[in-house]
Amino acid sequence: MTTHTKQDAVRLLDVFDPEMAGLLHREERRQFETIGLIASENVVSPMAACLEGSVFTNKNTEGYAGKRFVGGCELADQAEQLAVKRVKQAFGVDHANIQCGNATIANIAVLRALLKPGDTFLGLALDNGGHLSHGAKFHYSGATYHALHYGVSRETERIDMDQVRQMAREHHPKLICVGSSSYPRLIDYKAFREICDEVGAYFWVDCAHDCGLIAGGAIPSPVPYAHVLTFSTQKTLRGPRGCGVILVCRDMEIPDGVTKDGAPKFTKLSTKIDRSVFPRLQGGPKGDMLAARGVLFYELLQPEFKEYARQVCRNAKALARGCAGEGMRLITGGTDTHMVMIDVTPLGVNGQEAETLLNRVGMVTNKNMIPFDPLPPSCGSGLRIGSPTMTTRGAKEEEMEHIGHLLGRALKGREDPAALERIAAEVKGLATSHPMFSGEWVSPCIREQFEAMYGLPGRD
Ligand SMILES: *Cc1c(COP(=O)(O)O)cnc(C)c1O
Repeated sequence: MTTHTKQDAVRLLDVFDPEMAGLLHREERRQFETIGLIASENVVSPMAACLEGSVFTNKNTEGYAGKRFVGGCELADQAEQLAVKRVKQAFGVDHANIQCGNATIANIAVLRALLKPGDTFLGLALDNGGHLSHGAKFHYSGATYHALHYGVSRETERIDMDQVRQMAREHHPKLICVGSSSYPRLIDYKAFREICDEVGAYFWVDCAHDCGLIAGGAIPSPVPYAHVLTFSTQKTLRGPRGCGVILVCRDMEIPDGVTKDGAPKFTKLSTKIDRSVFPRLQGGPKGDMLAARGVLFYELLQPEFKEYARQVCRNAKALARGCAGEGMRLITGGTDTHMVMIDVTPLGVNGQEAETLLNRVGMVTNKNMIPFDPLPPSCGSGLRIGSPTMTTRGAKEEEMEHIGHLLGRALKGREDPAALERIAAEVKGLATSHPMFSGEWVSPCIREQFEAMYGLPGRD
């Protein structure tokens, strides 16, 4: 039997389409030679990446395991069931739907399962770190539902729970959502749930950013408090892109309109969620995506993943120390997660200028708004950085703190080409001293073989 691995195909690509193959090789090099600090990025698990794009992609898997609309799904069914079983175990929940094409679609599916058009819900304001799918006016979520937004307090830059409570009491939302793309602190899920219970609202947590830290036990879990969780798999979870997960924490019967005779009707929350995804929103999922999540969620259950999650948090704190040591202001004064939000204006640059300059010396970041930002979104006062990519590559606290200093030195040395050149050389040296995926994060049973395949070249 022949197998068609990706490596074989790349050799063909080199000959058939050198133009595209060239882009692939250059992107590979770019990632290896730069210090990746984008908080929403990571390096994908090679085993999950191998299943993504595997022959499972040839399979139409419309429907759910055991209830497909086409034949020949026996093995794809088992792949999906295995993935679902493992993600339920990793998070300790009753039900999982892993079919959405990304987290934004998963979020729309949750809103459509729990609300009717025009219903009120509360979310974190976009310019305070919320996601556009939490009710931004121009997004489906804001155009279809009556979305209202709470924010962070001006003094502490932390979520203003008094404001959440007061808005909930005043507007009686049917659902309250929390979750953020640029909030570096723990969220008080217990307080959120108490407010939800007081006003009879569902509690939905969008943990797209920190789901890997939650699964790894590095930060407290929202599972005891939330009705539903959503997330994508490419951020701290370290999987491929193109999957949105919905977890039902504790399954239960929820009100679902009335029967033909006018009696109140109840449906299981898990059933509402599954129907909301398919057939009401999407067609069939990618079979290879389901299989890739199977191995990804298996990795979550290993002790190495728990250690990785803790290291991500330690590394973010070290990165923050380095930045603060160079005179940048840390939003909220620090971090509890994988993410550091910094105000770069004390160094005399705005967010856009900082992003562009750092990219030139090989440190890849993104500009971001900071709470109550006086600058427009096109430049912003902030930079959002994170530790997941460099942690996966094996960096530890000392190097991360040093990277924070390098960031500051580059921004301060922006008028000095010789200084920038020295920093760029140091960045490249530091980046290329790490493999793309450190063998310490894979199980001992495959570590030696893994390092031979994915470690730095010429080490043995
Ligand atoms: C990244 C992110 C999303 C969107 O994830 P996609 O998979 O890209 O759709 C949703 N919510 C939050 C809070 C995020 O940070």
